[in-house]
Amino acid sequence: MVYTVLARKYRPQKLSDLVGQETLVKVLTNSFKLNRIAHAFILTGSRGVGKTSTARIIAKGLNCEDPAKKNTPTIDPCGICSSCTSIAESRHIDVLEMDAASRTGVSDVREIIENIDYKTVTARFKVYIIDEVHMLSNSAFNALLKTLEEPPEHVKFIFATTEVTKIPTTVISRCQRFDLTRIEASKISGQLESICNKEEISFSRNALSFISNIAEGSLRDALSILDQAIVHGEGSIELESITSMLGLVDQNGSLKLFKHIIDQEQEKILEELDLQYKNGFDSIAILNGLMETISKLMIFKIRKEDSVEKSFSGELVQSLSKVSKRISTDILSRCWQMVLKNHGELKSAPDMFSALQMGMLRLSFFCGLPGPLDLIKQISEGKMIGEKVDIEPRHNLDLMQKPTEISEVMPGNIGNSSESLATDPERSAKLTEDFQFRGKEKKKIEINDFDDILSLIEEERNLPLLVEIENNFKLISFTAGEIEFDLTQDARSDLVLDISKLIAKNSDLQWKFVRVPDNSALTIVAKRKETRNKQQRKIDSNLVVKEIKRIFPGARIGKSTFH
Ligand SMILES: [Zn+2]
Repeated sequence: MVYTVLARKYRPQKLSDLVGQETLVKVLTNSFKLNRIAHAFILTGSRGVGKTSTARIIAKGLNCEDPAKKNTPTIDPCGICSSCTSIAESRHIDVLEMDAASRTGVSDVREIIENIDYKTVTARFKVYIIDEVHMLSNSAFNALLKTLEEPPEHVKFIFATTEVTKIPTTVISRCQRFDLTRIEASKISGQLESICNKEEISFSRNALSFISNIAEGSLRDALSILDQAIVHGEGSIELESITSMLGLVDQNGSLKLFKHIIDQEQEKILEELDLQYKNGFDSIAILNGLMETISKLMIFKIRKEDSVEKSFSGELVQSLSKVSKRISTDILSRCWQMVLKNHGELKSAPDMFSALQMGMLRLSFFCGLPGPLDLIKQISEGKMIGEKVDIEPRHNLDLMQKPTEISEVMPGNIGNSSESLATDPERSAKLTEDFQFRGKEKKKIEINDFDDILSLIEEERNLPLLVEIENNFKLISFTAGEIEFDLTQDARSDLVLDISKLIAKNSDLQWKFVRVPDNSALTIVAKRKETRNKQQRKIDSNLVVKEIKRIFPGARIGKSTFH
């Protein structure tokens, strides 16, 4: 006996056989019952969801010769009359199946149209099934359009397509449209189980779940994997034989690996990696499996559990759900990034498996670390972090690669105290800008302290003088009319003269400048530096900062401010 592939052998013959397309079944059933059958249908959906099967069921229903159906269209074709059997075998003279992928031209469509007015030979309706209809050329669509507008009573069109967006809306609007959805994994799994039972093939549920999960909603794909698995497993369906057949890592294995990673069980990580490697999976496949697990966990975190259960099947759901509750989306998304990075490293590593091991260990150490936000929260709640975490190996593994930048630990900006005006572009730019609007007249001002003098120079836009003072002038004492000072060695000899001239221009008072040699006196720049060092020491001794620096070595403080 010739072996028929499962997808063909178990092709749905009635609407009730159709798996996972409840909406379509309901609407079609009603329109047949009410005898309001459209003259053209368009069936959309991805591959293997049942478009062609549905098209044939409609064609059979339209033409079934079962006497019990009283010579009217039925949604429940008998499947045994000559019309039903010849349609099932694609040899009905009035049911024409055409693959638009191979016959795209206007002449092909014209051939159909020219024959359209001839009455049917034996059947009630002439049915044209055009598969992959989006492949038709524009002129072919135009030729078709006229017929779609005024079709003869005895003609029905059924279009099927995977890419409905490529079909002119003028065509779509003249058809009854059905969008076939991807079939839920749990339904595929159920279908596989019933087929295995009929075929008397022994199977493990895990194996069928695995097939349904990777079939991505296509029953046809699932069935063809099942076909191969039967041959590969010599008549029985086991998970190991399927994963090795497809070169895919079993999701349970990946999940186990990920559990060891978040539990920081480094020894078990290495064991699991060895096991998967021994089972014949290469490093990339192991990593791909892990990435799939992480992305599924993320979906579990975000979507409601019951909606997820439909898209994954079997024990995997429970295990995924358990693990997903233990890990934050924040950590998950960073795990994803790190695994992706490891993926890139693998390709350039001399030994891929070692690179994989290192990557997975690094990931597990990372998982033991709290995120910066958690860290701050916990420390501010008075808890010490990471007491139990052995963070030593982190240094060897170069955990973070780049030092983590912890910016905006606190809002504000410590960087205000720049070395001098000259190194503060923002401030000097502002001075230049203001200059344009400054009036020439000015009145004499009161000078109460040395800062007033600096403001005066700033107002005068004498930037070079200001920079010189900040760097070389050491103020010792200030009283109205008398300033005691010292100068650095680099100071210009007539610096004080310039200052006094400027003051004289703006003040009525006679000012006296007295130089008092004093090595301990500081310039403005030096004073600022000292203040900043003091602040830095204060930051460094801060408990939160200390903890962060301990756990993220090499971390830098971006911005901070004092309250
Ligand atoms: Zn029939």
